[in-house]
Amino acid sequence: MTGVSHSIVTFATLYVATQNVFIAGSAMLGSLFPDKSEGLFWQSSHRSYSHWFVLYVAAMACFWTPEALFVTGIQMWQTGILHMSRMFLFWFSAGALLHILEDAICGPVPFLYPNKRTMVLPRLFKTGSVGECLFVITYCAILYLSAGKL
Ligand SMILES: [Zn+2]
Repeated sequence: MTGVSHSIVTFATLYVATQNVFIAGSAMLGSLFPDKSEGLFWQSSHRSYSHWFVLYVAAMACFWTPEALFVTGIQMWQTGILHMSRMFLFWFSAGALLHILEDAICGPVPFLYPNKRTMVLPRLFKTGSVGECLFVITYCAILYLSAGKL
């Protein structure tokens, strides 16, 4: 999936789920991390360690707080920069985890081992194809219809 599609799908999903722009925005930035972190090694190590879900689940566990799911933007601001940073990193990691799920529907990703890619889910389209564009539009339409707003 392309970076634009990752951003749209992740932001839309978490905004509909939480109604919180800070959470959706943090996750959207996180959804770009797995591909961007590969940098110059993109061609030799695409979808390896940077796409291993275990790293992001561990990060989410480290940054978890009980109010992570329910905090409002104003409450977050009042609790201080350290707590706000922790919330950002939790949702940033959640966005990276969603990136892997989104990649899993358009190709192989690491599952049991970080350097061995496997087809975890059925391939719905090829990255950058018209099928991907149609998927993003359809997914957002379904979210819109099911949530009543976007
Ligand atoms: Zn990716």
